[in-house]
Amino acid sequence: MTIKETEGVIKYQLHHRQEPITIPDQLTQVLTAWRSILVKLEVIGQDAHRYQGFGFGNLSARSNNNTFYITGTQTGEYPVLQQKHYSEVIEANINEFSIYSRGLTKPSSEALSHSAVYQASPDINFVFHGHSPEIWHATQQLNLPAIPANIAYGTQAMAEAVTKLLHEKPATSGFVMEGHEDGIITFGRTAEQAGLTFAAWLANALQCAS
Ligand SMILES: [Zn+2]
Repeated sequence: MTIKETEGVIKYQLHHRQEPITIPDQLTQVLTAWRSILVKLEVIGQDAHRYQGFGFGNLSARSNNNTFYITGTQTGEYPVLQQKHYSEVIEANINEFSIYSRGLTKPSSEALSHSAVYQASPDINFVFHGHSPEIWHATQQLNLPAIPANIAYGTQAMAEAVTKLLHEKPATSGFVMEGHEDGIITFGRTAEQAGLTFAAWLANALQCAS
């Protein structure tokens, strides 16, 4: 079964508390800085000509309380984010497709995929998701790690696939989502590792295309 995913559509059951949250300044600053770079690389954003005009791409960071902060749903249009544009995912149940969150913005539609990556390794503190047709089409040429299209995103199967990937290739810091058009996920112990992986893969893909 191949699952064709639609950008921007929340697929899980969301239990959201609409209330202000306080994110450590340092985390907001690092996420906002890397997001600005990814917006410039056009792997995060909102464009009438891409994905039916839905916003695309999202970033998250693990907190100290076993929760994670993630950019809010449909915030792709904003060049720079503020605290109010983030949401805190308190609990993500990938078996029941449910999320408990709070914040002034609801979490990104791809929060369960982020959750699956965090569950794969306690060493992962940052997860970046962007859309790059260049990287996506160069997956085989660049021999990039990939999660096959028959694994639905944000599921237990995805968490297991990421765990397996990290076991087989411990140095890996990202993968291509074959069932999610142009979808790339990078991650790391630091935001820098996740961000630089994205940039390096894009540079390699552009060399393939030239
Ligand atoms: Zn996406």
